[in-house]
Amino acid sequence: MSDPIQADNALSAPYDAAVIGGGVVGCAILRELSRYRLRVVLLERESDLAEGISKGNSGVIHAGFNVAPGSLKARLNVEGLDILYRLAAALGVPHRITGKLVVAVGEGDFPRLEELLDQGRRNGVAGLELVDRAAIERLAPGVRGLRALSSARTGIVSPYELTIALGESAAANGARVVLQAAVTSVEVRPDAFLLSTPRGVFAARWIVNAAGLDADDVAALAGIRVPRVFPSRGEYLITDKGAGSVLDMPVYPVPPRDDSFLGVHITPTLEGHVLLGPGSEAVADKRDTATTRAAVEKLQAEALALVPGLAGIPFIHAYAGLRPKLVDPRGGPGTADFLIEESASRPRWINLLGIESPGLTAAPAIALRVAGMIGAREGLKERPDFNPGRPAPTRFARRDDAERALRAAGDPAWSEMVCRCEHVTRAEVLAAVHNPFGARTLDAIKRRTRCGMGRCQGGFCGPRIVEILKGEGEPVEKISKRGSGSELFLGRLKP
Ligand SMILES: Cc1cc2nc3c(=O)[nH]c(=O)nc-3n(C[C@H](O)[C@H](O)[C@H](O)COP(=O)(O)OP(=O)(O)OC[C@H]3O[C@@H](n4cnc5c(N)ncnc54)[C@H](O)[C@@H]3O)c2cc1C
Repeated sequence: MSDPIQADNALSAPYDAAVIGGGVVGCAILRELSRYRLRVVLLERESDLAEGISKGNSGVIHAGFNVAPGSLKARLNVEGLDILYRLAAALGVPHRITGKLVVAVGEGDFPRLEELLDQGRRNGVAGLELVDRAAIERLAPGVRGLRALSSARTGIVSPYELTIALGESAAANGARVVLQAAVTSVEVRPDAFLLSTPRGVFAARWIVNAAGLDADDVAALAGIRVPRVFPSRGEYLITDKGAGSVLDMPVYPVPPRDDSFLGVHITPTLEGHVLLGPGSEAVADKRDTATTRAAVEKLQAEALALVPGLAGIPFIHAYAGLRPKLVDPRGGPGTADFLIEESASRPRWINLLGIESPGLTAAPAIALRVAGMIGAREGLKERPDFNPGRPAPTRFARRDDAERALRAAGDPAWSEMVCRCEHVTRAEVLAAVHNPFGARTLDAIKRRTRCGMGRCQGGFCGPRIVEILKGEGEPVEKISKRGSGSELFLGRLKP
Protein backbone atom coordinates (compact mmCIF):
# COMPACT_ATOMS: atom_id res chain seq x y z
CA MET A 1 0.00 0.00 0.00
CA SER A 2 1.43 3.39 -0.84
CA ASP A 3 0.54 4.98 2.45
CA PRO A 4 -1.62 4.48 5.53
CA ILE A 5 -5.30 5.28 5.54
CA GLN A 6 -5.83 8.94 6.15
CA ALA A 7 -8.69 11.30 5.73
CA ASP A 8 -7.18 14.10 3.71
CA ASN A 9 -7.79 17.56 4.95
CA ALA A 10 -9.85 17.83 1.84
CA LEU A 11 -10.71 21.48 1.63
CA SER A 12 -7.56 23.09 2.99
CA ALA A 13 -5.28 21.36 0.47
CA PRO A 14 -7.15 20.03 -2.56
CA TYR A 15 -5.14 18.04 -5.10
CA ASP A 16 -4.66 19.68 -8.46
CA ALA A 17 -6.00 16.52 -10.09
CA ALA A 18 -7.42 13.15 -9.04
CA VAL A 19 -7.44 10.23 -11.45
CA ILE A 20 -10.15 7.64 -10.76
CA GLY A 21 -9.07 4.17 -11.92
CA GLY A 22 -5.71 2.39 -11.84
CA GLY A 23 -5.79 0.63 -15.20
CA VAL A 24 -3.30 1.31 -17.98
CA VAL A 25 -5.16 4.48 -19.00
CA GLY A 26 -5.39 5.96 -15.48
CA CYS A 27 -1.77 5.07 -14.72
CA ALA A 28 -0.53 6.53 -18.03
CA ILE A 29 -2.41 9.76 -17.25
CA LEU A 30 -1.08 9.88 -13.70
CA ARG A 31 2.47 9.45 -14.94
CA GLU A 32 2.04 12.15 -17.58
CA LEU A 33 0.64 14.56 -14.98
CA SER A 34 3.53 13.74 -12.62
CA ARG A 35 5.80 15.39 -15.20
CA TYR A 36 4.43 18.78 -14.08
CA ARG A 37 4.43 20.73 -10.85
CA LEU A 38 1.08 19.38 -9.78
CA ARG A 39 -0.22 17.52 -6.74
CA VAL A 40 -1.89 14.47 -8.19
CA VAL A 41 -3.52 11.37 -6.73
CA LEU A 42 -4.89 8.16 -8.24
CA LEU A 43 -7.76 6.37 -6.52
CA GLU A 44 -8.21 2.69 -7.34
CA ARG A 45 -11.03 0.54 -6.03
CA GLU A 46 -9.12 -2.76 -5.95
CA SER A 47 -6.14 -3.85 -3.85
CA ASP A 48 -3.73 -3.53 -6.79
CA LEU A 49 -3.30 -1.69 -10.07
CA ALA A 50 -4.30 -3.47 -13.31
CA GLU A 51 -7.15 -5.45 -11.77
CA GLY A 52 -9.67 -4.38 -14.45
CA ILE A 53 -9.67 -4.53 -18.26
CA SER A 54 -5.93 -3.91 -18.28
CA LYS A 55 -5.13 -7.41 -17.04
CA GLY A 56 -7.42 -9.38 -19.37
CA ASN A 57 -6.53 -8.55 -22.96
CA SER A 58 -4.33 -9.74 -25.83
CA GLY A 59 -1.35 -7.51 -25.01
CA VAL A 60 -0.97 -6.59 -28.68
CA ILE A 61 0.58 -3.25 -29.58
CA HIS A 62 -1.69 -2.49 -32.50
CA ALA A 63 -0.34 -0.73 -35.58
CA GLY A 64 -3.63 1.10 -36.26
CA PHE A 65 -5.14 -0.35 -39.46
CA ASN A 66 -8.25 -1.80 -37.79
CA VAL A 67 -9.75 1.50 -36.75
CA ALA A 68 -11.90 3.90 -38.77
CA PRO A 69 -10.00 6.76 -40.43
CA GLY A 70 -10.73 10.12 -38.84
CA SER A 71 -11.71 8.59 -35.50
CA LEU A 72 -10.11 9.47 -32.19
CA LYS A 73 -9.27 5.77 -31.89
CA ALA A 74 -7.25 5.90 -35.13
CA ARG A 75 -5.36 9.04 -34.15
CA LEU A 76 -4.53 7.92 -30.61
CA ASN A 77 -3.67 4.37 -31.73
CA VAL A 78 -1.12 5.52 -34.29
CA GLU A 79 0.31 8.19 -31.97
CA GLY A 80 0.33 5.79 -29.03
CA LEU A 81 2.23 3.02 -30.85
CA ASP A 82 5.55 4.85 -31.10
CA ILE A 83 5.27 6.39 -27.64
CA LEU A 84 4.48 2.98 -26.17
CA TYR A 85 7.60 1.40 -27.61
CA ARG A 86 9.74 4.23 -26.19
CA LEU A 87 7.94 4.14 -22.85
CA ALA A 88 8.24 0.36 -22.45
CA ALA A 89 11.98 0.64 -23.14
CA ALA A 90 12.42 3.52 -20.66
CA LEU A 91 10.48 1.73 -17.93
CA GLY A 92 12.06 -1.69 -18.50
CA VAL A 93 8.73 -3.32 -19.43
CA PRO A 94 9.06 -6.54 -21.45
CA HIS A 95 7.87 -6.02 -25.04
CA ARG A 96 8.81 -7.11 -28.54
CA ILE A 97 8.12 -5.92 -32.09
CA THR A 98 6.83 -9.14 -33.62
CA GLY A 99 5.00 -8.15 -36.79
CA LYS A 100 1.52 -9.51 -37.41
CA LEU A 101 -0.46 -11.28 -40.11
CA VAL A 102 -4.17 -10.91 -40.91
CA VAL A 103 -4.79 -14.06 -42.88
CA ALA A 104 -7.33 -14.73 -45.63
CA VAL A 105 -8.17 -18.41 -45.81
CA GLY A 106 -10.49 -18.03 -48.80
CA GLU A 107 -10.60 -15.77 -51.86
CA GLY A 108 -13.79 -14.20 -50.53
CA ASP A 109 -11.66 -12.48 -47.85
CA PHE A 110 -9.31 -10.76 -50.34
CA PRO A 111 -11.38 -7.54 -50.75
CA ARG A 112 -11.47 -7.08 -46.97
CA LEU A 113 -7.68 -7.35 -46.80
CA GLU A 114 -7.44 -4.61 -49.45
CA GLU A 115 -9.82 -2.47 -47.39
CA LEU A 116 -7.72 -2.93 -44.25
CA LEU A 117 -4.56 -2.02 -46.17
CA ASP A 118 -6.23 1.11 -47.52
CA GLN A 119 -7.63 2.00 -44.10
CA GLY A 120 -4.21 1.56 -42.51
CA ARG A 121 -2.55 3.78 -45.10
CA ARG A 122 -5.17 6.46 -44.54
CA ASN A 123 -4.47 6.24 -40.80
CA GLY A 124 -0.74 6.77 -41.47
CA VAL A 125 0.34 3.25 -40.48
CA ALA A 126 3.83 2.32 -41.66
CA GLY A 127 5.06 -1.16 -42.59
CA LEU A 128 1.91 -2.61 -44.19
CA GLU A 129 1.91 -4.89 -47.24
CA LEU A 130 -0.15 -7.68 -48.78
CA VAL A 131 1.77 -10.94 -48.94
CA ASP A 132 1.17 -14.26 -50.68
CA ARG A 133 1.10 -17.83 -49.43
CA ALA A 134 4.87 -18.31 -49.74
CA ALA A 135 5.52 -15.20 -47.65
CA ILE A 136 3.03 -16.39 -45.01
CA GLU A 137 4.95 -19.64 -44.78
CA ARG A 138 8.23 -17.75 -44.44
CA LEU A 139 6.96 -15.25 -41.83
CA ALA A 140 4.85 -17.65 -39.77
CA PRO A 141 5.58 -21.27 -40.73
CA GLY A 142 2.55 -23.50 -40.27
CA VAL A 143 -0.07 -20.78 -40.64
CA ARG A 144 -2.76 -21.75 -43.13
CA GLY A 145 -3.73 -18.95 -45.54
CA LEU A 146 -3.82 -17.84 -49.17
CA ARG A 147 -2.98 -14.18 -48.71
CA ALA A 148 -2.32 -11.93 -45.73
CA LEU A 149 -1.94 -8.35 -44.64
CA SER A 150 1.47 -8.13 -43.00
CA SER A 151 2.10 -5.42 -40.41
CA ALA A 152 5.75 -4.95 -39.52
CA ARG A 153 5.21 -2.51 -36.62
CA THR A 154 2.82 -4.62 -34.52
CA GLY A 155 4.21 -5.94 -31.25
CA ILE A 156 3.39 -7.48 -27.90
CA VAL A 157 3.74 -6.18 -24.35
CA SER A 158 2.83 -7.42 -20.90
CA PRO A 159 -0.22 -5.21 -20.20
CA TYR A 160 -0.22 -5.52 -16.42
CA GLU A 161 3.54 -5.03 -16.15
CA LEU A 162 3.16 -1.88 -18.23
CA THR A 163 0.33 -0.62 -16.01
CA ILE A 164 2.28 -1.28 -12.81
CA ALA A 165 5.43 0.31 -14.26
CA LEU A 166 3.48 3.46 -15.19
CA GLY A 167 2.05 3.62 -11.66
CA GLU A 168 5.46 3.11 -10.08
CA SER A 169 7.03 5.75 -12.30
CA ALA A 170 4.29 8.25 -11.40
CA ALA A 171 4.72 7.49 -7.68
CA ALA A 172 8.50 7.89 -7.94
CA ASN A 173 7.85 11.30 -9.48
CA GLY A 174 5.73 12.42 -6.55
CA ALA A 175 2.21 11.27 -7.49
CA ARG A 176 0.18 9.49 -4.83
CA VAL A 177 -1.52 6.14 -5.50
CA VAL A 178 -4.24 5.01 -3.09
CA LEU A 179 -5.51 1.45 -3.42
CA GLN A 180 -8.78 0.05 -2.00
CA ALA A 181 -10.16 3.52 -2.55
CA ALA A 182 -13.40 3.06 -4.49
CA VAL A 183 -15.02 6.43 -5.12
CA THR A 184 -18.52 5.96 -3.74
CA SER A 185 -19.88 9.49 -3.76
CA VAL A 186 -18.98 12.91 -5.12
CA GLU A 187 -19.73 16.32 -3.72
CA VAL A 188 -19.48 19.16 -6.21
CA ARG A 189 -18.11 22.37 -4.68
CA PRO A 190 -17.40 25.55 -6.66
CA ASP A 191 -13.60 25.12 -6.50
CA ALA A 192 -13.17 21.37 -6.07
CA PHE A 193 -14.76 17.97 -6.20
CA LEU A 194 -14.88 15.97 -2.96
CA LEU A 195 -14.48 12.25 -3.59
CA SER A 196 -15.54 9.92 -0.79
CA THR A 197 -13.74 6.59 -0.52
CA PRO A 198 -13.22 4.00 2.23
CA ARG A 199 -9.74 5.52 2.66
CA GLY A 200 -10.89 9.05 3.25
CA VAL A 201 -12.26 12.04 1.39
CA PHE A 202 -10.08 13.43 -1.37
CA ALA A 203 -10.60 16.90 -2.79
CA ALA A 204 -9.31 17.78 -6.22
CA ARG A 205 -9.78 20.66 -8.64
CA TRP A 206 -9.64 18.43 -11.73
CA ILE A 207 -11.06 14.94 -11.96
CA VAL A 208 -10.05 12.42 -14.61
CA ASN A 209 -12.59 9.62 -14.70
CA ALA A 210 -10.67 6.62 -16.11
CA ALA A 211 -12.83 4.00 -14.40
CA GLY A 212 -13.10 1.73 -17.47
CA LEU A 213 -16.26 -0.35 -17.38
CA ASP A 214 -17.58 1.77 -14.49
CA ALA A 215 -16.84 5.19 -15.99
CA ASP A 216 -20.55 5.79 -16.66
CA ASP A 217 -21.46 5.00 -13.04
CA VAL A 218 -18.63 7.19 -11.72
CA ALA A 219 -19.78 10.10 -13.91
CA ALA A 220 -23.30 9.62 -12.54
CA LEU A 221 -21.94 10.13 -9.00
CA ALA A 222 -21.17 13.72 -10.02
CA GLY A 223 -24.56 14.12 -11.70
CA ILE A 224 -23.04 13.94 -15.20
CA ARG A 225 -25.08 12.24 -17.92
CA VAL A 226 -22.91 10.15 -20.24
CA PRO A 227 -23.55 7.25 -22.64
CA ARG A 228 -23.99 3.88 -20.95
CA VAL A 229 -21.13 1.37 -20.96
CA PHE A 230 -22.07 -2.15 -22.14
CA PRO A 231 -19.76 -5.02 -21.20
CA SER A 232 -18.75 -7.43 -23.96
CA ARG A 233 -16.94 -10.52 -22.75
CA GLY A 234 -13.97 -12.00 -24.56
CA GLU A 235 -12.77 -15.39 -23.40
CA TYR A 236 -9.22 -16.69 -23.86
CA LEU A 237 -7.36 -19.95 -23.63
CA ILE A 238 -3.66 -20.01 -22.86
CA THR A 239 -1.39 -22.83 -23.96
CA ASP A 240 1.56 -24.36 -22.23
CA LYS A 241 4.97 -22.93 -23.06
CA GLY A 242 5.97 -25.14 -25.99
CA ALA A 243 3.52 -23.32 -28.25
CA GLY A 244 5.84 -20.32 -28.52
CA SER A 245 7.97 -22.34 -30.90
CA VAL A 246 4.94 -22.97 -33.13
CA LEU A 247 4.21 -19.29 -33.56
CA ASP A 248 6.11 -16.14 -32.75
CA MET A 249 3.90 -13.40 -34.20
CA PRO A 250 0.19 -12.60 -33.72
CA VAL A 251 -1.99 -14.16 -36.40
CA TYR A 252 -5.51 -12.83 -36.95
CA PRO A 253 -8.39 -13.92 -39.12
CA VAL A 254 -10.03 -11.35 -41.39
CA PRO A 255 -12.21 -9.34 -38.96
CA PRO A 256 -15.94 -8.79 -39.36
CA ARG A 257 -16.95 -5.57 -41.17
CA ASP A 258 -18.99 -4.23 -38.24
CA ASP A 259 -15.77 -3.58 -36.22
CA SER A 260 -17.34 -5.31 -33.19
CA PHE A 261 -14.09 -7.24 -32.54
CA LEU A 262 -10.98 -8.42 -34.32
CA GLY A 263 -11.89 -12.09 -34.51
CA VAL A 264 -10.41 -15.00 -32.57
CA HIS A 265 -6.69 -14.50 -32.97
CA ILE A 266 -3.59 -16.32 -31.90
CA THR A 267 -1.05 -14.29 -29.98
CA PRO A 268 2.30 -15.43 -28.63
CA THR A 269 3.26 -14.11 -25.20
CA LEU A 270 6.71 -12.90 -24.27
CA GLU A 271 7.26 -16.05 -22.20
CA GLY A 272 6.48 -18.57 -24.98
CA HIS A 273 2.82 -19.29 -24.29
CA VAL A 274 0.15 -18.70 -26.93
CA LEU A 275 -3.21 -17.01 -26.33
CA LEU A 276 -6.27 -18.07 -28.28
CA GLY A 277 -9.12 -15.61 -28.27
CA PRO A 278 -10.93 -13.52 -27.47
CA GLY A 279 -14.50 -14.37 -28.39
CA SER A 280 -17.17 -11.69 -28.24
CA GLU A 281 -20.35 -11.98 -26.21
CA ALA A 282 -22.59 -9.28 -24.74
CA VAL A 283 -23.09 -9.88 -21.01
CA ALA A 284 -25.32 -8.09 -18.53
CA ASP A 285 -22.91 -7.87 -15.60
CA LYS A 286 -19.78 -5.71 -15.62
CA ARG A 287 -18.04 -8.28 -13.38
CA ASP A 288 -18.94 -11.34 -15.46
CA THR A 289 -15.54 -12.77 -16.36
CA ALA A 290 -16.74 -16.38 -16.32
CA THR A 291 -15.23 -18.81 -18.78
CA THR A 292 -17.45 -21.34 -20.52
CA ARG A 293 -17.08 -24.74 -22.11
CA ALA A 294 -18.85 -23.53 -25.26
CA ALA A 295 -16.32 -20.73 -25.77
CA VAL A 296 -13.36 -23.05 -25.13
CA GLU A 297 -14.53 -25.40 -27.87
CA LYS A 298 -15.18 -22.55 -30.31
CA LEU A 299 -11.80 -20.92 -29.64
CA GLN A 300 -9.97 -24.19 -30.23
CA ALA A 301 -11.81 -24.87 -33.47
CA GLU A 302 -11.27 -21.36 -34.88
CA ALA A 303 -7.62 -21.18 -33.85
CA LEU A 304 -6.75 -24.61 -35.20
CA ALA A 305 -8.24 -23.65 -38.54
CA LEU A 306 -5.55 -20.95 -38.82
CA VAL A 307 -2.65 -22.72 -37.09
CA PRO A 308 -3.10 -26.51 -37.27
CA GLY A 309 0.27 -26.96 -35.51
CA LEU A 310 -1.36 -25.96 -32.23
CA ALA A 311 -3.21 -29.29 -32.14
CA GLY A 312 -2.06 -31.38 -29.21
CA ILE A 313 -0.47 -28.53 -27.26
CA PRO A 314 -2.03 -28.53 -23.79
CA PHE A 315 -3.96 -25.56 -22.47
CA ILE A 316 -3.15 -24.50 -18.93
CA HIS A 317 -5.67 -21.76 -18.20
CA ALA A 318 -8.78 -19.92 -19.41
CA TYR A 319 -9.71 -16.34 -18.57
CA ALA A 320 -11.94 -13.57 -19.85
CA GLY A 321 -11.73 -9.81 -20.36
CA LEU A 322 -14.57 -7.33 -20.69
CA ARG A 323 -14.74 -4.64 -23.38
CA PRO A 324 -16.35 -1.33 -22.30
CA LYS A 325 -18.57 -0.81 -25.36
CA LEU A 326 -20.60 2.29 -26.06
CA VAL A 327 -22.66 0.51 -28.73
CA ASP A 328 -25.79 -1.11 -27.30
CA PRO A 329 -25.65 -4.82 -28.24
CA ARG A 330 -29.44 -4.83 -28.56
CA GLY A 331 -29.15 -2.39 -31.46
CA GLY A 332 -29.57 0.96 -29.73
CA PRO A 333 -27.57 4.05 -30.69
CA GLY A 334 -23.94 4.44 -29.68
CA THR A 335 -20.46 5.17 -30.89
CA ALA A 336 -17.61 2.82 -31.69
CA ASP A 337 -15.10 5.60 -30.94
CA PHE A 338 -13.34 6.62 -27.74
CA LEU A 339 -15.13 9.44 -25.91
CA ILE A 340 -12.71 11.74 -24.08
CA GLU A 341 -14.22 15.04 -23.04
CA GLU A 342 -14.56 17.58 -20.29
CA SER A 343 -18.10 17.66 -18.97
CA ALA A 344 -20.08 20.68 -20.14
CA SER A 345 -22.12 20.69 -16.93
CA ARG A 346 -19.18 20.09 -14.58
CA PRO A 347 -16.12 22.02 -15.73
CA ARG A 348 -12.75 20.42 -14.82
CA TRP A 349 -14.26 16.91 -14.82
CA ILE A 350 -12.92 14.82 -17.73
CA ASN A 351 -14.64 11.54 -18.67
CA LEU A 352 -12.99 8.74 -20.63
CA LEU A 353 -15.57 6.33 -21.99
CA GLY A 354 -15.50 3.36 -24.34
CA ILE A 355 -11.73 2.85 -24.05
CA GLU A 356 -11.80 -0.60 -25.61
CA SER A 357 -9.17 -1.99 -27.99
CA PRO A 358 -6.75 -0.44 -28.96
CA GLY A 359 -6.83 1.31 -25.58
CA LEU A 360 -3.68 -0.39 -24.32
CA THR A 361 -1.71 0.84 -27.34
CA ALA A 362 -3.35 4.25 -27.24
CA ALA A 363 -2.93 4.79 -23.47
CA PRO A 364 0.22 6.96 -23.70
CA ALA A 365 -1.38 9.15 -26.38
CA ILE A 366 -4.60 9.35 -24.34
CA ALA A 367 -2.47 10.54 -21.43
CA LEU A 368 -0.92 13.30 -23.54
CA ARG A 369 -4.37 14.37 -24.72
CA VAL A 370 -5.75 14.58 -21.17
CA ALA A 371 -2.67 16.47 -19.92
CA GLY A 372 -3.14 18.80 -22.89
CA MET A 373 -6.79 19.42 -21.94
CA ILE A 374 -5.74 20.39 -18.42
CA GLY A 375 -2.69 22.28 -19.64
CA ALA A 376 -4.79 24.39 -22.00
CA ARG A 377 -6.51 25.86 -18.94
CA GLU A 378 -3.85 25.70 -16.24
CA GLY A 379 -0.50 26.64 -17.79
CA LEU A 380 1.41 23.57 -16.61
CA LYS A 381 5.07 23.90 -15.60
CA GLU A 382 7.39 20.94 -16.09
CA ARG A 383 9.34 19.66 -13.10
CA PRO A 384 13.07 19.80 -13.77
CA ASP A 385 13.64 16.62 -11.74
CA PHE A 386 11.10 14.41 -13.59
CA ASN A 387 12.65 10.95 -14.00
CA PRO A 388 11.30 9.11 -17.08
CA GLY A 389 12.80 5.73 -16.12
CA ARG A 390 12.48 3.36 -13.18
CA PRO A 391 14.53 0.54 -11.68
CA ALA A 392 12.89 -2.47 -13.39
CA PRO A 393 12.57 -5.67 -11.33
CA THR A 394 15.28 -8.30 -11.87
CA ARG A 395 14.01 -11.59 -13.31
CA PHE A 396 16.03 -14.68 -12.47
CA ALA A 397 14.50 -16.52 -15.45
CA ARG A 398 15.84 -13.91 -17.88
CA ARG A 399 19.41 -13.88 -16.52
CA ASP A 400 22.34 -15.99 -17.72
CA ASP A 401 23.95 -18.65 -15.55
CA ALA A 402 26.87 -16.42 -14.57
CA GLU A 403 24.60 -13.69 -13.20
CA ARG A 404 22.36 -16.23 -11.48
CA ALA A 405 25.36 -17.71 -9.70
CA LEU A 406 26.62 -14.28 -8.71
CA ARG A 407 23.27 -13.29 -7.23
CA ALA A 408 22.83 -16.60 -5.40
CA ALA A 409 26.31 -16.26 -3.89
CA GLY A 410 25.43 -12.81 -2.56
CA ASP A 411 21.97 -13.68 -1.19
CA PRO A 412 20.56 -17.20 -0.66
CA ALA A 413 17.06 -15.90 -1.48
CA TRP A 414 18.22 -15.91 -5.13
CA SER A 415 18.84 -19.66 -4.99
CA GLU A 416 15.50 -20.66 -3.46
CA MET A 417 13.02 -21.52 -6.20
CA VAL A 418 9.48 -20.51 -5.22
CA CYS A 419 7.85 -21.09 -8.63
CA ARG A 420 9.31 -24.05 -10.49
CA CYS A 421 7.32 -23.51 -13.70
CA GLU A 422 8.40 -19.91 -14.26
CA HIS A 423 11.70 -20.07 -12.35
CA VAL A 424 10.89 -17.40 -9.81
CA THR A 425 13.06 -17.09 -6.72
CA ARG A 426 12.23 -16.09 -3.17
CA ALA A 427 14.24 -12.88 -3.73
CA GLU A 428 11.83 -11.83 -6.49
CA VAL A 429 8.76 -12.55 -4.36
CA LEU A 430 10.25 -10.52 -1.52
CA ALA A 431 10.98 -7.68 -3.95
CA ALA A 432 7.31 -7.74 -5.03
CA VAL A 433 6.13 -7.66 -1.42
CA HIS A 434 8.39 -4.68 -0.74
CA ASN A 435 7.63 -2.89 -3.99
CA PRO A 436 6.20 0.65 -3.89
CA PHE A 437 2.61 -0.62 -3.78
CA GLY A 438 3.39 -3.51 -1.44
CA ALA A 439 1.99 -6.55 -3.27
CA ARG A 440 0.09 -8.59 -0.67
CA THR A 441 -2.31 -10.77 -2.69
CA LEU A 442 -1.38 -13.85 -4.72
CA ASP A 443 -2.50 -12.09 -7.90
CA ALA A 444 -0.49 -8.94 -7.17
CA ILE A 445 2.61 -11.09 -6.61
CA LYS A 446 1.78 -13.08 -9.75
CA ARG A 447 1.62 -9.95 -11.92
CA ARG A 448 5.01 -8.79 -10.64
CA THR A 449 6.89 -12.09 -10.66
CA ARG A 450 4.94 -14.61 -12.84
CA CYS A 451 4.51 -16.95 -9.83
CA GLY A 452 1.45 -19.04 -10.62
CA MET A 453 1.38 -18.32 -14.36
CA GLY A 454 3.02 -21.58 -15.39
CA ARG A 455 1.81 -25.09 -15.99
CA CYS A 456 0.86 -25.90 -12.38
CA GLN A 457 -1.04 -22.61 -12.02
CA GLY A 458 0.15 -21.97 -8.48
CA GLY A 459 -0.07 -25.51 -7.12
CA PHE A 460 3.61 -25.46 -6.15
CA CYS A 461 4.24 -21.78 -5.40
CA GLY A 462 0.92 -20.92 -3.70
CA PRO A 463 1.75 -22.46 -0.28
CA ARG A 464 5.29 -21.08 -0.45
CA ILE A 465 4.04 -17.55 -1.09
CA VAL A 466 1.66 -17.89 1.85
CA GLU A 467 4.66 -18.80 4.04
CA ILE A 468 6.63 -15.82 2.74
CA LEU A 469 3.72 -13.44 3.38
CA LYS A 470 3.31 -14.88 6.88
CA GLY A 471 7.01 -14.32 7.48
CA GLU A 472 6.56 -10.71 6.40
CA GLY A 473 3.93 -10.22 9.09
CA GLU A 474 0.74 -10.67 7.04
CA PRO A 475 -1.99 -12.32 9.19
CA VAL A 476 -2.70 -15.61 7.45
CA GLU A 477 -6.48 -15.14 7.55
CA LYS A 478 -6.06 -11.97 5.53
CA ILE A 479 -4.04 -13.54 2.72
CA SER A 480 -6.20 -13.53 -0.39
CA LYS A 481 -6.13 -14.16 -4.09
CA ARG A 482 -7.15 -10.67 -5.13
CA GLY A 483 -8.24 -8.75 -2.02
CA SER A 484 -11.25 -8.70 0.23
CA GLY A 485 -13.74 -11.49 -0.50
CA SER A 486 -11.14 -13.89 -1.96
CA GLU A 487 -9.36 -14.87 1.29
CA LEU A 488 -7.62 -18.26 1.11
CA PHE A 489 -8.31 -19.39 4.68
CA LEU A 490 -11.42 -19.37 6.85
CA GLY A 491 -9.61 -19.80 10.18
CA ARG A 492 -7.33 -22.14 12.12
CA LEU A 493 -8.21 -25.75 12.91
CA LYS A 494 -5.39 -25.97 15.48
CA PRO A 495 -4.17 -23.09 17.63
C1 LIG B 1 -10.72 -8.89 -24.58
C2 LIG B 1 -9.92 -7.63 -24.77
C3 LIG B 1 -8.79 -7.63 -25.57
C4 LIG B 1 -8.07 -6.46 -25.77
N1 LIG B 1 -6.90 -6.51 -26.49
C5 LIG B 1 -6.19 -5.38 -26.66
C6 LIG B 1 -4.96 -5.40 -27.37
O1 LIG B 1 -4.48 -6.46 -27.77
N2 LIG B 1 -4.33 -4.24 -27.59
C7 LIG B 1 -4.82 -3.04 -27.16
O2 LIG B 1 -4.22 -2.01 -27.44
N3 LIG B 1 -5.95 -2.99 -26.41
C8 LIG B 1 -6.63 -4.12 -26.14
N4 LIG B 1 -7.76 -4.10 -25.39
C9 LIG B 1 -8.19 -2.83 -24.82
C10 LIG B 1 -7.44 -2.49 -23.53
O3 LIG B 1 -7.26 -3.64 -22.73
C11 LIG B 1 -8.25 -1.45 -22.78
O4 LIG B 1 -8.53 -0.38 -23.64
C12 LIG B 1 -7.51 -0.89 -21.57
O5 LIG B 1 -7.00 -1.93 -20.76
C13 LIG B 1 -8.49 -0.04 -20.77
O6 LIG B 1 -7.82 0.42 -19.62
P1 LIG B 1 -8.55 1.33 -18.58
O7 LIG B 1 -7.50 1.86 -17.69
O8 LIG B 1 -9.43 2.30 -19.30
O9 LIG B 1 -9.56 0.35 -17.83
P2 LIG B 1 -9.30 -0.63 -16.58
O10 LIG B 1 -8.04 -1.36 -16.73
O11 LIG B 1 -10.53 -1.42 -16.39
O12 LIG B 1 -9.12 0.38 -15.37
C14 LIG B 1 -10.22 1.01 -14.76
C15 LIG B 1 -10.03 0.91 -13.27
O13 LIG B 1 -11.01 1.70 -12.61
C16 LIG B 1 -11.27 1.10 -11.37
N5 LIG B 1 -12.53 1.63 -10.86
C17 LIG B 1 -13.78 1.39 -11.31
N6 LIG B 1 -14.67 2.06 -10.57
C18 LIG B 1 -13.98 2.74 -9.64
C19 LIG B 1 -14.35 3.61 -8.58
N7 LIG B 1 -15.63 3.91 -8.33
N8 LIG B 1 -13.38 4.13 -7.78
C20 LIG B 1 -12.06 3.83 -8.02
N9 LIG B 1 -11.66 3.00 -9.01
C21 LIG B 1 -12.60 2.47 -9.81
C22 LIG B 1 -11.31 -0.38 -11.71
O14 LIG B 1 -11.11 -1.18 -10.57
C23 LIG B 1 -10.20 -0.51 -12.72
O15 LIG B 1 -8.99 -0.92 -12.14
C24 LIG B 1 -8.48 -5.25 -25.16
C25 LIG B 1 -9.60 -5.26 -24.33
C26 LIG B 1 -10.30 -6.44 -24.11
C27 LIG B 1 -11.47 -6.45 -23.17
